[in-house]
Amino acid sequence: MDCKLFTKQIPGYLDNSLATDELAAFLFHMEACSECEEELAIYYLANEGLLRLEDGGTFNLKQVMTSQKGRALKLLRVRRGLRWLTFSLLFLIAVAISILFYLVI
Ligand SMILES: [Zn+2]
Repeated sequence: MDCKLFTKQIPGYLDNSLATDELAAFLFHMEACSECEEELAIYYLANEGLLRLEDGGTFNLKQVMTSQKGRALKLLRVRRGLRWLTFSLLFLIAVAISILFYLVI
């Protein structure tokens, strides 16, 4: 992933609409590129921060970003677990069909 694609995918990251592979690439790039992490912080400030300030509430940028990242990592783990489970079930079904086929013939 390059910086341009990262910036384009920020809204998808925030509303959890990135596909599993996109999310993994996004998080990996965020860890490796401080410029894009700053870009994400600016995005938060320009959207979430202004809304909170208008409501009179407080806004802790670092806490919000850490919380969002934690949710994204958890979502990534769940999706990868489901993918692994799906492949495992398909494998077991294929083995079961093979055994049944062997027993019938
Ligand atoms: Zn970057």
